[in-house]
Amino acid sequence: MAATRTGRLHRFQGAWSAEEWYATGWIMSGTSVGTALVVVDVQNDFADPKGSLFVRGAGKVVKVVNGLVERARSEGWPVFYTQDWHPETTPHFAKDGGIWPVHCVGGSRGADFHPDLMVEGVSVKKGGAGEDGYSGFTMRDLVEGKDRPTELHSLLQERNIARVVVVGLALDYCVKDTALDAVRLGYQVEVPLDATAAVNLSPDDGDKSIAALRAAGVSVS
Ligand SMILES: [Zn+2]
Repeated sequence: MAATRTGRLHRFQGAWSAEEWYATGWIMSGTSVGTALVVVDVQNDFADPKGSLFVRGAGKVVKVVNGLVERARSEGWPVFYTQDWHPETTPHFAKDGGIWPVHCVGGSRGADFHPDLMVEGVSVKKGGAGEDGYSGFTMRDLVEGKDRPTELHSLLQERNIARVVVVGLALDYCVKDTALDAVRLGYQVEVPLDATAAVNLSPDDGDKSIAALRAAGVSVS
């Protein structure tokens, strides 16, 4: 089943021949591996310069992600989206004892998808009951100190997905945690770096995240 990876994911925006797709390992010879695109938190508070937690570089990320959504559509791969979706009061927010400015309050403009994002799939909302929701797969109940799953894993299982491509915002938080959880759950995981951007609260957070992803077996390209 092993395929040689000679392709480059950042060529997504160009035209790909079937042979090139085989070369990436995304399509194994004779077998179509169930692949899904997981678009993490491309929401106004992260992707709009006026958002409360704007991630620099997000504008470019939206464009690259849209290219991947088009590619997924042409290949018949399902696309899943996640949305940070907080109540107005949550220990996730600095005003309530957490670390973040208020962001992505469910139903607010900040929680909406960026208007330029192509949305062609199911959205999984995380954090609605006041949990921390970095990973698209799990939320942490801050009161009970327990993790609880979102519906993303079962949605992927229903579609026989074996491989996920994780993109969106931000590399050093939700993309990283989603990708690491995906590995833990047994998926083959790819993170194309031109389809994500880091917050970099500390300047090397993005680089540390890339190292952690590679160490966990994620294909970072
Ligand atoms: Zn949040």
